[in-house]
Amino acid sequence: MNGGHWAYDLHIHSALSPCGDKDMTPNNIINMSLLKGLEIISVTDHNSAKNLPAIFEIAKNKEIIIVPGIEVNSKEEVHLLCYFPTLELALDFDRYLESFLPPTRNNKKIFGEQIILNSEDKAIGEVDYLLINALDLSIEEIFTLVRKRKGVVVPAHIDRDSYSIISNLGFIPSHLSVKTIELSSSVKGDVLKNWENNYPNFQIIQSSDAHSLENILERISFLPIEKPNIENVIKFFDST
Ligand SMILES: [Zn+2]
Ligand SMILES: [Zn+2]
Repeated sequence: MNGGHWAYDLHIHSALSPCGDKDMTPNNIINMSLLKGLEIISVTDHNSAKNLPAIFEIAKNKEIIIVPGIEVNSKEEVHLLCYFPTLELALDFDRYLESFLPPTRNNKKIFGEQIILNSEDKAIGEVDYLLINALDLSIEEIFTLVRKRKGVVVPAHIDRDSYSIISNLGFIPSHLSVKTIELSSSVKGDVLKNWENNYPNFQIIQSSDAHSLENILERISFLPIEKPNIENVIKFFDST
């Protein structure tokens, strides 16, 4: 491993996300990430952390750092990546979110299955309510709730025309004290330079938003942190 230059992909969906491929199982995600040479990953399902216990169980014996994460959909239909210092805090947030998810049953034929898996990739349950819906929680409320759990919020894929803070609000409210923003990994060259010039006060990260194994990133995005651990990633995202 190489100091201060760690390959990451911090936005990956498992088979729990209705749009995630069925083979996005905990073992497949971790093995593919290792094959691609990644050192730090995060599995960020829509409004849920229910596949994280399996991911963490498997990662115990592997050379890879997992950052506990959830991609939350706010009341304003803005996607926010929420990262936590421990699995327990992510699961606590997951339980809290349950009562703010509209009680709309998932239509599997339209949206796909929402499968909870164990560390042997066996299905141990399913989430009944559609996870991609907007929660009854505002962006502000989500920031407060995540901070309370010592986590950090990174607005997701702000370059996209939908489900992004820029497309839906037009700007990043300064009182939220956002330090890090995510751009799609497809943003490159002059387009990337434009974003950097227009948002000089933010750190930019780029992850895959992979819903299939082949879309998990190669070694193209790197975090300049001393040691690869969860604490340093969270600290980095919350600094300027
Ligand atoms: Zn998203
Ligand atoms: Zn996503």
